[in-house]
Amino acid sequence: MATANSPTTTETDEPRIEGPITEFDRYGDKTGATYFRCSGCGVESINKKGITGEDGHEPCPCRK
Ligand SMILES: [Zn+2]
Repeated sequence: MATANSPTTTETDEPRIEGPITEFDRYGDKTGATYFRCSGCGVESINKKGITGEDGHEPCPCRK
């Protein structure tokens, strides 16, 4: 392994939807709710479909 700059494999530009992420309130306590976030633009929604646009809302900017 002489190459110092070997390219990372399996890296894609496809933005992922991260989650469910536990939501905390201003006091640091769990609200009991979870949300999802797009790794591409940072848009957050309470469900995945709110990011992909499947629920009829506007999809996040990187999915248009
Ligand atoms: Zn996005």
